[in-house]
Parts: sequence; structure tokens; C-alpha cells
Amino acid sequence: MKTIGLIGGMSWESSIEYYRVINETTKEKLGGLHSAKCIMYSVDFAEIEVLQREGKWQEAAKILSLAARSVEAGGADFLVLCTNTMHKLVEDIQASIQIPILHIADATARKIGSSGIRRVGLLGTRFTMEEDFYKGRLTTKFNLEVIVPKAESRKAVDRIIYEELCLGLIKKESKNEYVRIIQELVESGAQGIILGCTEIGLLIKDQDCPVPLFDTARIHAVSAVEYAIGSCS
Ligand code: GLU
Repeated sequence: MKTIGLIGGMSWESSIEYYRVINETTKEKLGGLHSAKCIMYSVDFAEIEVLQREGKWQEAAKILSLAARSVEAGGADFLVLCTNTMHKLVEDIQASIQIPILHIADATARKIGSSGIRRVGLLGTRFTMEEDFYKGRLTTKFNLEVIVPKAESRKAVDRIIYEELCLGLIKKESKNEYVRIIQELVESGAQGIILGCTEIGLLIKDQDCPVPLFDTARIHAVSAVEYAIGSCS
């Protein structure tokens, strides 16, 4: 079994889920007392969020690259970055280490591909929904058609992530707002919805959505186990 390296804390509310899903999946696959070999470096999200908001991405890249080096030095065989948004910096982080990074969008796109869905709605932070580092990868590398909510809805999705979900606040009215936005995406032709932020799964579950949901945190965590035990390439 390979040792899974994780950079967490973005936010820690979702890193807990990674840890839980990784260990539950390992137990399901290997049985008995098996659990995952893993190392997590958990950052202070307050520092990261300020750098995001101020557009100081290179400073954020330095922090995450140092974290990645620590995880590698600790004996991890590969790295899992427990956030969609910070995959914006995946090339910088990869350049600072020798071990491979298991990309969250690739794991998600493979899962979508195997379901036969081609047109997906994407929910995430403003960076993930609006910039090309994530949508572009899904489109170019995996031939998916990606649609995002309209401007006003994107603002609500982003606000709820940073002001509530990353603080562990789960509110009924925010759930209703997300359900309404998901409905808009479905009406625009989305055959599936990507929960492209690792905290959204804390708020939205399969039963809240009329089309298949792709929870990136769960998919990423399960892929990490499959990679660690060699049941996928
Ligand atoms: N966890 C979130 C994501 O998956 C947002 C927090 C962050 O900006 O890293 O994008």
C-alpha cells in the first residue's frame, strides 16, 4: 500500500471528510483492521484566504510548495491537494516535488466520463467557476461541456462557501439557495452537477439534486485509495 500525502486545511471542515472517506474506503476494500497510511499537512486557511482575495497567488504557491515538500519528506508516495481552488497552483506545487499529484479535476472527470454524461454544471468558488484552470482542463482534456451559474448565482455560491461552509455553518436557507441554483443549471441542460468545492458535500446530498451529483472531495478521496492500493493507474 502506498502512503497517501495530503495538504489539508482548505478548509479543515472538508479535510476531515477526506480522512474519513480514505479510511472507510480502505477498510471496505481491504477489510479487517486495515486503514490508510497517510500524512497530512494542514495549513492555516486564514492565511491562504487573504492571499486568494488579494490575488497574491505566488505567495500562496510558496506556502503550498513548502507544505508539499514536508509531506514528501515525511514519506508520502503521492500528493492529494484537498481543495479544487488551489489546483490553480498545481504546476508550481508539482515543480517543487518529485512525487506525483493526483489531480482532483482528473479524478472527477474520469468518474463523469464513466457515467456517460457530457454536459455538466459546475459549482465552486468564484475562482473555480470563472477561471480557466479547472473548466479548461475538463473541456480540453476530457471533452466535457461545462456550464456555470449566472453572475448573481455565482456570487451566492462563493459567499456561502467562504462565509458559512468553511466555518462549519450548515444553513437551511443556503441549502435552498443551492438547490435553486442547481435547478437553473439543470434547466440549462446540465445532465450532472459537479460539487467543485470540497465543502459543498457538507450541504448538498444526492437527494437534493434531480441529476447525478459528482462530489469532488469524495471522488478524490476514493481515487487516492484506489491509487494507493494499486486498483487503478
Ligand atoms: N475547499 C474549497 C475548494 O475546494 C474552497 C476553499 C479554498 O479556496 O481552497 O475549492
